[in-house]
Amino acid sequence: MQVRFRLDAELRFSAPFSQEAEESCRALIDEANRVLFMKGVPKGVDRSEVGQITRSEFSGNTLTLTVESGAYTRAHDALFRFRKQVAPSLGKHRLGIREIVVTDYSIELEGAFPENFRTPELPFIKKAVLSGRVLSVDLAVSASDLENRIPDRLVRLFEEKIEAAEYGGKGEHWELIYESGAKARHFEGDPTAEMIQRGWIKHALSRGQWIHGPQSTQLFRAFEQIVVDEIIKPMGFTEMIFPKLVPWEVWMKSGHTKGVYPEIYYVCTPKTRDAAYWEDIGDYFKVTGEVWVDEIRNRIDGPIGGLCYAQCPSFWPFLQGETLANDCLPIRIFDRSGTSHRYESGGIHGIERVDEFHRIEILWLGTAEQTVETADRLHDAYTHVFEDLLELEWRCAKVTPWFMAQEGMIGPDNGCGCGGRIGTTDYEALLPYSNSWLEFQNVSINGDKYPKGFNVKIQSGADCWSGCSGIGLERWTAAFLAQKGLDIGNWPDIVAKKVGEPKNLFKFL
Ligand code: ATP
Ligand code: ZN
Ligand code: MG
Repeated sequence: MQVRFRLDAELRFSAPFSQEAEESCRALIDEANRVLFMKGVPKGVDRSEVGQITRSEFSGNTLTLTVESGAYTRAHDALFRFRKQVAPSLGKHRLGIREIVVTDYSIELEGAFPENFRTPELPFIKKAVLSGRVLSVDLAVSASDLENRIPDRLVRLFEEKIEAAEYGGKGEHWELIYESGAKARHFEGDPTAEMIQRGWIKHALSRGQWIHGPQSTQLFRAFEQIVVDEIIKPMGFTEMIFPKLVPWEVWMKSGHTKGVYPEIYYVCTPKTRDAAYWEDIGDYFKVTGEVWVDEIRNRIDGPIGGLCYAQCPSFWPFLQGETLANDCLPIRIFDRSGTSHRYESGGIHGIERVDEFHRIEILWLGTAEQTVETADRLHDAYTHVFEDLLELEWRCAKVTPWFMAQEGMIGPDNGCGCGGRIGTTDYEALLPYSNSWLEFQNVSINGDKYPKGFNVKIQSGADCWSGCSGIGLERWTAAFLAQKGLDIGNWPDIVAKKVGEPKNLFKFL
C-alpha cells in the first residue's frame, strides 16, 4: 500500500511578520526541508517519500503552509517538527505561535482494494472516494487530532479493513488437534426440549434466559464439582471473585472496545437517586400498568459499560501497574461468581446458546514457558475428564480468531517454543440430534495481551504471559445430555453419583 499525506495549515503568530522575520523564516523552511525532515529517514528512501513544506505564504500574523509526504516524516510530523524548530528563532523577532489551524488534510492510499472493502464512517472523515486503486480521504481534523496521531491510526484502520475484507468469510482458522472415538449414545433428541418436557427448566422472562430447576442445577453443580476435583484442586487453582459489571476502562485495556458492541448488555445509572426525580415514573406505572421506558431513557446516564462478557478482563485491575515477584509465579486462579451476558440476537438456541449463562473461568499467568505448561497440563486434565469420566464424543481444534491474527498476536516462535502457541483451542462435543458440533469450552494462550494492556511486569524482566479457559456449564450440560439422555441410569457412574437422585420439588395441578 502506497500512502501520501497532504495538509494545509495556518500558523497564527502573536504579531505580524516583519521583512526580516519573514526572511529568516523562509531560510528555516528551506533548511527544514533539507535537513530537519530527513532526520531518522533510512538511507535509500526516495526524497518524494519524505515530508516537505511545498508552499509557504506570509500574510499579516499568519504563515500558511502546505506540507506533503509519503510514508516518512509524515505531513503532520513534519509540521510539528517545524513548529518546534521555528519557535526559538522567531522568538528573537518577538513572534510566538498562538495557534495552528488545520484547514485541509487529505490521505491517499494506493493499492489493491478487495471488492467488499468499505470505507469506515467516522466523524474525522469528511469524504472518502475509492476510484480504482486509489482511495482519497478528506479529513476534518484539528491540530490536537494530529498530535494524537489520528491520521496514522486511520491508515492503520484502513489497512485492517482491507485485511478483514480479504480474510472475508473465512472467519477463523480451524485445525483439528484431537478427535475422540465413538462413545455410548443413549439419546437422539434435543436435550432442551426434553428438559422442558420433564420440568427441569423453564423459560425465564428475559430473552435467552432460563430458570433452572433443581434437577438441572444438580447437574451444573455435579459438573462444577468434577472440575474442582479433577482440575482445580490437583493443579492448584485458587478461587477469587471477579466483578460482573464491567466499565469501559477495563474493556479499553483488554481490547474488547475494538469490537464487542453488538453483543453487549449495556449498563446505565440513574441521573440522580433523588426519589422525587423518579416519583412520576412510579406514578405512571401505578396509573397505566406500564413501565414508562421512553421517559426512563431521558433520566439515565451512561452506558458506563456492560455486564460481564468474558470473565477474565475484570480480574486484571487487581494486578494493574504491579511487578510480580518471581517466586509467586505461576499464578493460578479461577472465578465462578456470577453470570455472563451476551446479546446473541436470533442465534439463541436451547440452553446452549443463551443471553445469560454460567461459566467457571480458569486463569493463569507467569512466564511464557509457565503459561504454556499450564495450558498443556490443563488440556491433559480435560482430556481425562471427557474421555474417562463423562465418556463424551468430543474433539478439539486450534482456532485463530480473526482479531488475534490481525493484532499480530500469532507471533513467530522466538526460540522458547512458545511463540507459535498463542491462540485458542476450542473443545467441541457432538450433538447427535442435529449431527453438529457444539463448542462447550476453550483454552486460550493470550501471550502478553493482558499484562501489556494492564501494565503488569515480572521481577525477572521476562515477558509476562497469561492464559484462560472458559468452562460453560450450559454447554457441558447440553453436550452431555444430548449424548447420554436424561435417564440417570444411562449416565457414567461418576456423574450419576455426583448428581444424586434428581429432586422433583414441584407438583403442578
Ligand atoms: P460461539 O462461537 O459458540 O458463540 P464463542 O467463541 O463466542 O462461542 P467464547 O467467547 O470463546 O465463545 O466463550 C467461551 C465459552 O463461553 C464458550 O466455550 C462457551 O462455553 C461459553 N459461551 C459463550 N457464549 C455462550 C452463550 N451464548 N451461551 C452459553 N454459553 C456460552
Ligand atoms: Zn478469559
Ligand atoms: Mg459467540
